[in-house]
Amino acid sequence: MSGEQITESPKSEYSSPKFEYNTEIVKPSLLLHSCCGPCSTSVIEEMIPSYDITVYFYNPNITDRAEYEKRLESQKKFIDDYNGSSNRKGTIAFIEGAYEPELFIDEVKGFESGPEGGARCRKCFYMRLEKTAAAASMGGYDFFTTTLTVSPHKNYRLISEAGREICARYRIGFIDRDYKKNNGYLRSLELSKRYSLYRQSYCGCAFSKAEK
Ligand code: SF4
Repeated sequence: MSGEQITESPKSEYSSPKFEYNTEIVKPSLLLHSCCGPCSTSVIEEMIPSYDITVYFYNPNITDRAEYEKRLESQKKFIDDYNGSSNRKGTIAFIEGAYEPELFIDEVKGFESGPEGGARCRKCFYMRLEKTAAAASMGGYDFFTTTLTVSPHKNYRLISEAGREICARYRIGFIDRDYKKNNGYLRSLELSKRYSLYRQSYCGCAFSKAEK
């Protein structure tokens, strides 16, 4: 991607081994990992004025295939409806990552019974963010980030640590932002309702379904 228009002093929310763009002059490209349509709504609304967004739907943690398809459709519906709206601030691109729940099951082996927010989730965040960083690096994106921090049920610190560690390894910028701040979560509820999106009742894996 183009490397022109850079500034010298990155803000603290940017964890980038490279540089920060002046987003008022050029829109850098952003690969936005999305866990689901509803969580993506308020993040996209917040980021699209400044970034050229591609949504990356990579969620092998959704162990039930039918549930995965429902969330995928909800994500696509939001993007299609947003792109078709007259007041859009940009056009959102979309990539579906591989659906590979067997890799997730392997990854969390030994941590299945822990509570949500613990070691199992840490591995889950790493897995999803690492794949996103790899895809962003391969695709020549400037930054990656994730909708995971919208949810009040997710541990922001764990997600931030994972993103910062991974971005250093892949040498790609990570936007480390707690998207639930400034009413981000409430806004996602509002927008999900407005766009009539399916909203799931549990996090994603079979273990979280059993816990609910
Ligand atoms: S509870 Fe959610 S974040 Fe934690 S491992 Fe399961 S799907 Fe991943």
